[in-house]
Amino acid sequence: TPARSSTRSSLPVRVVLRVRPFLPSEAASATAPCVSLLDYHPGGEVTVQLKDQHTSRSELYKVDSFFGQEDSVSQIFDQEVRAVIPGIFEGINATVFAYGATGSGKTYTMQGTEDFPGLIPLAASTILANCTGTWCSVEMSYYEVYLERCYDLLEPKAKEIMALDDKDGNMQLKGLSWVPVRSMEEFEELYSIGVQRRNVAHTGLNDVSSRSHAVLSLRVSTDVVKGKLNLIDLAGSEDNRRTLNEGIHLQESSKINLSLFTLSNVFSALNKNEHRIPYRESKLTRILQDSLGGSSRAVMIACLNPAEYQESAKTVSLAARPC
Ligand code: ADP
Ligand code: MG
Repeated sequence: TPARSSTRSSLPVRVVLRVRPFLPSEAASATAPCVSLLDYHPGGEVTVQLKDQHTSRSELYKVDSFFGQEDSVSQIFDQEVRAVIPGIFEGINATVFAYGATGSGKTYTMQGTEDFPGLIPLAASTILANCTGTWCSVEMSYYEVYLERCYDLLEPKAKEIMALDDKDGNMQLKGLSWVPVRSMEEFEELYSIGVQRRNVAHTGLNDVSSRSHAVLSLRVSTDVVKGKLNLIDLAGSEDNRRTLNEGIHLQESSKINLSLFTLSNVFSALNKNEHRIPYRESKLTRILQDSLGGSSRAVMIACLNPAEYQESAKTVSLAARPC
């Protein structure tokens, strides 16, 4: 099935669903994916159906676009991310989130594989290709937010990176490294070092990487303005109290749940054009305040495991609008 997507909505946060293929290990017991495209409204949103194969329970949701099992990450890039890049060169910040439970395809979508680059390398190469000459330069930063603390992945510091308010009321990450990037070779090298650090830092602790948010930012400076694209692989949205047992403090799961809950509250407040946006209720949304809302664009990619109805229904219900 081809991807169906609406023309770009004027809402500050676009909600996009992506269901990954069945893995070889799931193929034997798999029947149909628990989510499918039901209907699409010309020039508008799409309706998707979530269906439990066992109980025939089903729900309908409205989202801005849907990418099915056959659709590639490069299609998501072309239809959802490419359009925000010219704005970065005009000082209009943007943020792309991958949201979903562990195993739903967030890292595959953002980081990709050697054969199928994800949204991060695709965005980096598009930005670099548009930034030739002396009028413009690109820098990157890569950090992790874990338990409401922020850690540099490019040039690790002894301590956490502090988030401080500057005189304009914007949040600055004090001491975060911004490294100049002039070519895809330089980008790939830095990025792979950061990815390894993210994985190595947590060896021994049980899969912390699925419980931290990884934020890669590409900052473009021109003669006139600075603009930033944030690409975020969010912590797994599963209920950590239920899925994790040893060594997990209640405090930890409640902090992860709080930051994802706050993010979804910020999205819904922005899309309802509410006056008060609860940015300050979690570290991630405080840090991203300059890139969420106002003239900024955000794309939320809700990643779904086709074999997990309950988990997928939970992911979609946080991101989408029920019909
Ligand atoms: P998450 O980061 O959400 O925990 P992953 O990105 O690690 O999930 O994906 C879980 C598994 O599914 C991995 O083995 C990954 O390679 C595979 N996968 C995810 N999306 C796709 C896809 N579009 N095509 C093929 N395999 C995929
Ligand atoms: Mg992952």
